[in-house]
Amino acid sequence: MFNVNEIRKDFPILSRTVNGKPLVYFDNGATAQKPQVVIDAISHYYSFQNSNIHRGVHTLSREITIAYEEARKTIQLHLNAKQASEIIFTKGTTESINLVAHCFGKLAIAEGDEIIITQMEHHSNIVPWQLLCEEKKAVLKFIPINEAGELMLDELPQLITSKTKLVAFTHISNTLGTINPVKEMIEQIHTLSSSLREDKRRAAILIDGAQAVPHLKPDVQDLDCDFYVFSGHKLFGPTGVGILYGKEEWLQKFPPYQTGGGTIKTVTLQKTEFAESPLKFEAGTPHIEGGIGLAAAINYVAEIGFDNIQKHEHELLEYATKQLNEIQGLVIYGNAKHKTSVISFNVGTIHPFDIGTLLDKYGVAVRSGHHCTQPLWQFYNIPGTIRASFAFYNTFEEVDLFIEALKKSIRLLS
Ligand code: PLP
Repeated sequence: MFNVNEIRKDFPILSRTVNGKPLVYFDNGATAQKPQVVIDAISHYYSFQNSNIHRGVHTLSREITIAYEEARKTIQLHLNAKQASEIIFTKGTTESINLVAHCFGKLAIAEGDEIIITQMEHHSNIVPWQLLCEEKKAVLKFIPINEAGELMLDELPQLITSKTKLVAFTHISNTLGTINPVKEMIEQIHTLSSSLREDKRRAAILIDGAQAVPHLKPDVQDLDCDFYVFSGHKLFGPTGVGILYGKEEWLQKFPPYQTGGGTIKTVTLQKTEFAESPLKFEAGTPHIEGGIGLAAAINYVAEIGFDNIQKHEHELLEYATKQLNEIQGLVIYGNAKHKTSVISFNVGTIHPFDIGTLLDKYGVAVRSGHHCTQPLWQFYNIPGTIRASFAFYNTFEEVDLFIEALKKSIRLLS
């Protein structure tokens, strides 16, 4: 049974006040709140387990190495990856994408090759590809979007050529909420790219799952993507930890990314022999409590159940959208048929920062600005929006408080 009031008790921060009002936290797209089990896992690590992993023979080090590798296993099972060595701990989505851009770039991109992204990407899934293309004299192409904020996939046959080496796109748009048909896209890209290449090899696929993992459980084998990346902090886990799933065939061939302690098999003063994945990609002491906290977060959401999460969030989305649409002058950006619980909007000519600042006075936390998707706003010809993003612990009563505060803010600013 999904009981939102019971669930809210698991999140200590949700009972605090802001500016004398109960906190209404609708900035989940930026980062999600943490349940007590995650806080406890981190606190337990520092209270009873703190030591370094992988290289110690003493009890604490052996215990925490086992716990860290169990965390990796939890993430492997959650993503349905074939093996734990395909799961690399990183700092987050951004670092995961940078790692792939660096290693894939060195291994597989040459002058004239093509990389395709989309017009709805977060800057973290644009800039690393721009730099790589600049460095390698490769070509960066884009799948455009339509007015509703959906990808124009009928453009794919024109975009994909025999030179297409990688296609990177978001599973869910952080700004529009659009849920992209990733499985169908991957199938189409595979078919098109392999039919055009002499060697029949398919373009590699990277999925940015940063906004998807709080709402659904990806199955990387079923998707048949080459890379799937996400951040712990958006999945109710700690900041500073994220995941790169990579198919073993790539990770084996990839050169190292950052190097140093932890990545090696042997070192002489002249030469280094590197360890296998995942260690090859995890230089230095990692975010140990981050990995353990992330596994605790995954176990927690899995227990709530993604069917329950999706149902509740969809009801919140419909409830809020209906009320927002009744406000005069309010325009919602992103009206895709398949959409998650994210609403971006503007009201007349009022600046998003002004509304965001006033909403805060009523205890309502939303995000205002470009949400790291400036190319998307260039399409809509506006600088940014107010974004309300809901998680499974949000309630209809909070939506009412938000709408009431929004109406008051608009009256004050008009
Ligand atoms: N990709 C998407 C779709 C995002 O929403 C975000 C963060 O908002 C990122 C990438 C970057 O995530 P991080 O800052 O955790 O690396």
